Amino acid sequence: MNLRLTQLGEKAKTIVRVGDTSFGDGLAIIAGPCSVESERQLMETAVAVKAAGAQMLRGGVFKPRTSPYSFQGLGLKGLKILDKARAATGLPIVTEVLDTRDVSWVSEYADVLQIGARNMQNFSLLKEAGKSSRAVLLKRGMYSTIEEWLNCAEYILNEGNPNVILCERGIRSFETYTRNTLDLSSVPAVKELTHLPVIVDPSHGTGRLSLIEPMSAAAVAAGADGLIVEVHINPAEALSDKDQALTPQQFSDLVRKVRGLKKFMQEGS
Ligand code: PEP
Ligand code: MN
Repeated sequence: MNLRLTQLGEKAKTIVRVGDTSFGDGLAIIAGPCSVESERQLMETAVAVKAAGAQMLRGGVFKPRTSPYSFQGLGLKGLKILDKARAATGLPIVTEVLDTRDVSWVSEYADVLQIGARNMQNFSLLKEAGKSSRAVLLKRGMYSTIEEWLNCAEYILNEGNPNVILCERGIRSFETYTRNTLDLSSVPAVKELTHLPVIVDPSHGTGRLSLIEPMSAAAVAAGADGLIVEVHINPAEALSDKDQALTPQQFSDLVRKVRGLKKFMQEGS
């Protein structure tokens, strides 16, 4: 592997700090809806995930949908709603950017820019995000090897942005029961290859409500530095990914369990 800037060498592990949250030191939990749909939906979800122990709020305003006729996101209106939710809860915001033209102005609203699985190898977008002062959450592409994923992180670091958080979100396989095959072996693999923090998305990684909690626990056991989980105040009405959205109560139970597991692991080490 021809890694330069991301390679774990003599260099200490990178800790990406966003507000009071650290990625690479403890367990950072991000939660929120797949999409920002309305002020009420986002605000209620934000308050609920904060009460349940989330440290950061997610919410897409530009949605990379399979069909052009599906809900595409609220754009700037959605960013303004995220801004209000941050002001109300104190939670930093992570949101996806799809287009190079949006990186600089979205950076004025977002605390962390997400580059989604479908754009992992969009090299222009990676370079633009590399010029931003915001941390970047880089999801693994659904057809990408670990080497390809890490090379994409190199693109961002190479432009001068050291704050990259990797995110395993599952890869396509022959399996159809799950939405994706959540490759948790990538977590310890990435940790032996690079100094960057890595988190896991069990929502897109499984697409199934019943699997989110066990796979979150497995991710923590595998050494993940955090989780990003989809939560909706009323999952049945979600405009995107409703089959994988936890209720705030389900999310609260998950947080309690994974934090207990993390503590157990830290005590044992
Ligand atoms: C998302 O997190 O909203 C998303 C679209 O995820 P992914 O890029 O992993 O499919
Ligand atoms: Mn989603």
